[in-house]
Amino acid sequence: MAAYTIAIVGAGPAGYFAAQALQNVETEDLKFSIDMIERLPTPWGLVRSGVAPDHPKIKTVSKVFEKIASHKTFRLFANVEIGTDISVAQLQEKYDAVIIATGSSLGKTLGIPGEDLPGSISAADFVPWYNAHPDYVEVNVPLDCDTAVVIGAGNVAIDVARMLALEPSKLDPTDTADHAIAVFKTSAVRDVYISARRGPEHAAFTSPELRELPKLEHTNVAINKSDIDAAIVRAGAEPEKDVKSNLDAMLLIAESQKSEHERTMHFLFQHTPKQILGTERVEGVLYSTPKGDVTIKCGLVIIAIGYQAASINGVPYENGKVVNTGGRVKENLYVVGWAKRGPSGVIGTNKSDAAAVVELIINDMKSPKNAGDISDLLTNQVVVDQRAWQKINEAEVAAGESKGKPRVKSIRRDELLKLGLS
Ligand SMILES: Cc1cc2nc3c(=O)[nH]c(=O)nc-3n(C[C@H](O)[C@H](O)[C@H](O)COP(=O)(O)OP(=O)(O)OC[C@H]3O[C@@H](n4cnc5c(N)ncnc54)[C@H](O)[C@@H]3O)c2cc1C
Repeated sequence: MAAYTIAIVGAGPAGYFAAQALQNVETEDLKFSIDMIERLPTPWGLVRSGVAPDHPKIKTVSKVFEKIASHKTFRLFANVEIGTDISVAQLQEKYDAVIIATGSSLGKTLGIPGEDLPGSISAADFVPWYNAHPDYVEVNVPLDCDTAVVIGAGNVAIDVARMLALEPSKLDPTDTADHAIAVFKTSAVRDVYISARRGPEHAAFTSPELRELPKLEHTNVAINKSDIDAAIVRAGAEPEKDVKSNLDAMLLIAESQKSEHERTMHFLFQHTPKQILGTERVEGVLYSTPKGDVTIKCGLVIIAIGYQAASINGVPYENGKVVNTGGRVKENLYVVGWAKRGPSGVIGTNKSDAAAVVELIINDMKSPKNAGDISDLLTNQVVVDQRAWQKINEAEVAAGESKGKPRVKSIRRDELLKLGLS
């Protein structure tokens, strides 16, 4: 029998699906010990700190993650950062294979003047702020203005715009960070613009996200019907299935607009941002459009135009992703998920992607190294193992019960460690 040790760096969907793929191919003769290493005291990656809190169903995939973690040869080492606490090279020496699954956590920038003004925030900072990520508690989100602009044409832009345009009491039964709910409740924002550089036929929204918008109980959603009519013509007689489905969803919104609510989400197409205006803070966005330059006055801009990977020493990067060929990086180093592909696809996309990389790993395998594991490398780190994480998880869920929430997330590392390790 051959028993291999595998280190997976990052406890997001891609990391768990890689572990699952390894578990699925185990036989009497082929076994894997899996050590999953996570920099935060909590696992689940963007399922905890990215997915919108008003979409609790999507977060139920965490049950799958916990099942994977319950396997007897799976161990969690959370609160351990690779690249700082322990190097990738050290892991490569110890393990038969190392799989990088660290996602892409940095927001892409527009590269236009005014982007650094107070009140201009990346979705990569705003989203983890409302989702209680311990590193983003201090982000300043000024909601004292009547208008906010979200720049971007993907599902993250929709999530962000929806969070800004929701009637804030809708967040009470969710696991939105308490500090964010408090700020949303003081929000003066009543108009939220989502601006896309190109036409509706090119938008990267997915139609289920669009189809949900008319169901918002306290928010108007406004799309110019003429924008959609023109896009339908441009898309031609046989548009791709996804494009058609998106255009149908947008047409439905355009044809059945409500206007009775205080809050409105507006879609702008063919608006290319040229400058974020303001002196002390954001005062507006200057756009170039086919009809000439226009300015939207606003006090808050959220930039949601994509993500890139944060680099880790010892791992090669290019264009915001880990340099790889089908998931193989170098020697016994591999990559899966957003760190491999960039920020595209849904949670499930990471499953097939990880399974393909695991196939590659198995084909590359030589005899097991038997060189020890991460325990030999941990010196001063306080480690949150699966048992400690379960204590944190149970405590958060229990704290939510009396409030009608799925959980109340603890936002500080020391609080999380106390819950897990006391
Ligand atoms: C705002 C937002 C909303 C989304 N909503 C949906 C949705 O509704 N439905 C859907 O299907 N998909 C959604 N997605 C996409 C989905 O979240 C991704 O497909 C998925 O999370 C990518 O998985 P990943 O494991 O590659 O990365 P991540 O989920 O980012 O996980 C990476 C993990 O690695 C850890 N890590 C990073 N660096 C280190 C290090 N040096 N050492 C140790 N650990 C490290 C991170 O802390 C993190 O836990 C959303 C994404 C975003 C950004």
